[in-house]
Amino acid sequence: MFKTLFGPVPSRRLGISLGIDLVPYKFCSMDCIYCECGPTTDLIFKRDEYVKLEIVKDELKKYFDENPLPDYCTFSGSGEPTLNSKIGKVIDFLKKNYPVKIALLTNSTFLWDKKLRNELSGLDLILPSLDAAREVTMNKINRPHDGISPDLIIEGLIKFREETNVEMWLEVFILEGVNDGEEDLLSLKDTILKIKPHKIQLNTLDRPGAVEGLKPASKKRLFEIVSFLGFENVEIISKFRDRREIPSYSGDIENLIYSTIKRRPCTIEDLISITKLNVSEINKYLDVLEKDGKVLTLMGERGVFFKVAK
Ligand code: SF4
Repeated sequence: MFKTLFGPVPSRRLGISLGIDLVPYKFCSMDCIYCECGPTTDLIFKRDEYVKLEIVKDELKKYFDENPLPDYCTFSGSGEPTLNSKIGKVIDFLKKNYPVKIALLTNSTFLWDKKLRNELSGLDLILPSLDAAREVTMNKINRPHDGISPDLIIEGLIKFREETNVEMWLEVFILEGVNDGEEDLLSLKDTILKIKPHKIQLNTLDRPGAVEGLKPASKKRLFEIVSFLGFENVEIISKFRDRREIPSYSGDIENLIYSTIKRRPCTIEDLISITKLNVSEINKYLDVLEKDGKVLTLMGERGVFFKVAK
């Protein structure tokens, strides 16, 4: 069992993607209300070697000795990958040894740092998120660490586009009544014009977030936003929800998760600690179990619980 690698996870955007998780659960510089991984336990705004470089390199060597190359190696998982100060060394190691494309999912909070921008210049693809360009809205939806502002994030994104040739697909997560008002969309539109990403991808909630009562944007609302933004390169993204579409789907893992929840309702954190699987891997199976109507969610004292449907 790997500690830092998970998957390969099939992804509509990236094909078969081997996940690399460079931070412990759940270290992040934000505490987004919609986060599928649950509430941030360690809200941090300092980069460090939270997972040791040598462990990541050893696991990658072992994985590639025994498995075919995926379409992408993708930094994602439990929290914000750029919190790990050795991410650049991992990128260098991959580029030097394996002919694989490298992607990063990031909340963009450290792109103001020139040193990090240099470290990330070897990526093939960056998928940064920006849900709000106004401070009041960012504080509502992303609940960032003190010291993180939209201006800081936007400056980093603009500079990253100017300084590197890395393909950028900017993700905007839309929650009805939170960041889809006219003022917010206008300021986002202005900001996107300055950042100049190659693509803009709209996403919304299809799983419980970290707090109760959130409303996903309807398909109709997302299409209205696409036309409001008026850019040619905007798309709406959705997930795999059918096990037949997922090449690496394992019935054994589905049974393990289902039988764990059957014993007692569990949070994501409980499932990680019991099954020892990565949060992204667990979410893949919960997606399917929920779609099949086998698992329901309910809000408890410790956050969102998963329980079997009667
Ligand atoms: S959605 Fe991403 S940035 Fe937001 S809390 Fe979760 S891991 Fe952190």
